[in-house]
Amino acid sequence: MIIQLKNSVSDYEVTAIKSKDLGYTFNDIQTQVARYLICIGKKEIDLREIGFLDGVQDVHKVSDAYKLTSTKWKVGKTSIDIGDGIKIGNGDFQIMAGPCSIESEDQIRSTIAHLKQAGIKIMRGGVYKPRSSPYSFRGLGMDGLRLWYKLAKENGIKIVTEVMQVSQIAEMHDYVDIFQVGARNSQNFNLLDELGKVDKPVLLKRGMSGTIEELLQSAEYVFSNGNEKIILCERGIRTYEKAYRNTMDINAITILKDKSHLPVVADPSHGIGVRKYVDKIALASIMAGADGVIMEVHECPQKAFSDGQQTLDYKQSIKLIDKMNQARLLVEA
Ligand code: PEP
Ligand code: MN
Repeated sequence: MIIQLKNSVSDYEVTAIKSKDLGYTFNDIQTQVARYLICIGKKEIDLREIGFLDGVQDVHKVSDAYKLTSTKWKVGKTSIDIGDGIKIGNGDFQIMAGPCSIESEDQIRSTIAHLKQAGIKIMRGGVYKPRSSPYSFRGLGMDGLRLWYKLAKENGIKIVTEVMQVSQIAEMHDYVDIFQVGARNSQNFNLLDELGKVDKPVLLKRGMSGTIEELLQSAEYVFSNGNEKIILCERGIRTYEKAYRNTMDINAITILKDKSHLPVVADPSHGIGVRKYVDKIALASIMAGADGVIMEVHECPQKAFSDGQQTLDYKQSIKLIDKMNQARLLVEA
């Protein structure tokens, strides 16, 4: 059960609610926008008993393991403000594109020029890269991020980039517009707790073997720590299939959109992992209801420091963006 508290609620009123012998344990959640009591328990109670108490805005029965991320209490969709009028969710669609890894000043400049030409406002790229081998390129770190920030800012482009550990949050904070949590950290609960305390949106990827419910519970960590600005991301899961890198779970997009009020973004690049199929999967994701697409683009994918095999060149990117914009018109119709 979720008890939504009024903005004007007093501590005295909260204590009075908690002291009612309801047979529930209370989790007192203060986010950046509201205060909630998440009540855990099994007892059947008449919600009206609580609804009438002073300080209560609304009461909702939410039987899911995840609570605040569920549509069961918040029927309307969440819109996330990235700044400067750029929004995602609740009807606003965004494409985020850029290289797997930030590599050089030239590469950043070239990518920004491409994005501007294509009308894209959010650039992706990793400066801290989770790599299967410790001998692979692991990113330019903060030097890369500072340089990227300067160029992005000059051009009105927003930055989404992966944060891999708690200690990086503070150093990255002023240089990012959206913190990305990668598949490998989807259940790093300490990282999620800390991202709940920042005032920037979090793009949370599904774990490689994570279920839909686990993704929503991970989002619940961020939300219940205070940050309601969460974007969910389907990026494919690991299955027995070997014909491609990951199995893009298109179903998950539709299910997530139904079960949660949070925006859902699709990552077809990692989702299938093979350049020539990325466009089809991106389009399928839009038809499934995605609020955005995050994709890997590079001036010369063959020379990319990471994930070149799934990265589009600029020509392919422009073609796909055009198709995605058309697909959006169909979805909106
Ligand atoms: C990435 O976005 O480059 C990345 C590492 O993604 P994922 O965490 O989905 O593997
Ligand atoms: Mn990548």
